[in-house]
Amino acid sequence: MDPSAAPVLEVFASYQGEGLFVGQPQTFLRLAGCPLRCRYCDTPHSWPVPEREASDDWLTPFGAMLRVAQVELNVDRPIAVTGGEPLLWPGFLLGLRKVSGDRALHLETAGHDLEALEAVSDAFDHISLDLKLPGDLARPAKSSFPSSVLPESASDWDALRVRQLDLLTARTASACLKLVVTPGTDPADFEPLLADVARCAPELPLFVAPASPREGSYLGDLASLDGVVAAALEAGLEPRVLTQLHRALGVR
Ligand code: SF4
Repeated sequence: MDPSAAPVLEVFASYQGEGLFVGQPQTFLRLAGCPLRCRYCDTPHSWPVPEREASDDWLTPFGAMLRVAQVELNVDRPIAVTGGEPLLWPGFLLGLRKVSGDRALHLETAGHDLEALEAVSDAFDHISLDLKLPGDLARPAKSSFPSSVLPESASDWDALRVRQLDLLTARTASACLKLVVTPGTDPADFEPLLADVARCAPELPLFVAPASPREGSYLGDLASLDGVVAAALEAGLEPRVLTQLHRALGVR
């Protein structure tokens, strides 16, 4: 098996539903595997990694580009690499850059592995970083991903966040940040995170997203959302609230 191969869960053309490029027609390349366990995760089917030997889902970057070409109807779109957690597969990500020519590549990540994020950062034209509230994370599935560098405690995540923000602000290419607000969240829980963003990366676009249920649209807690937005404004940031467009359109 080619060492740059990765498990590709799905490839499809759709509209970007979140972040700085919301509404842009993109081709999505979803990689399998995630060691995190966000309590609001809407793609838990992406968590497991299929066996290499027993699966046709492991593709080289070139094989993945062939799948991309099959779904694009002859017009190249920016490719959004999503997951799961794509940083589990840095060799694949670097290989994808080599075989995708001048195509725009976007990365959607939680950035749990800073070394991998640093290694692949220059391969992407845009990085969308999910900032996790430690309280939204169940214990990571470390035993399934022995090569991963996983923050284990809230203080680990706090330390990682500062380094993630420093890395993204040092990039010349674009980046944005996303927070997910679940119903019942105490806005005060976000204050340390927002203080880090204000100190380290105030210029990065900050999107505040109400958590979507796995089916249907958001019916949740506007008071929590308003509270987080107010806390972001108080921190001197310019938050933008954005629900998931693809959910509203009823597409993947
Ligand atoms: S990082 Fe993404 S795929 Fe992994 S559990 Fe969290 S929301 Fe789900």
